Amino acid sequence: MGTDNVQHMVERCPVCDSRINAHVPTAGTEHEGTEYHFESAMCKRFFESDPSEYT
Ligand SMILES: [Zn+2]
Repeated sequence: MGTDNVQHMVERCPVCDSRINAHVPTAGTEHEGTEYHFESAMCKRFFESDPSEYT
């Protein structure tokens, strides 16, 4: 089947709390060793302007 080890991942945008569609490429960044994903590039910019607000 080839589906073993596939995790059911539901990620949420740390900025706006929208659910991120795993099938759509999203903006991502790394902050203090953790990778964050955002539902839009705009959210990524908010996050990067003040990471402590969202972590
Ligand atoms: Zn967002």
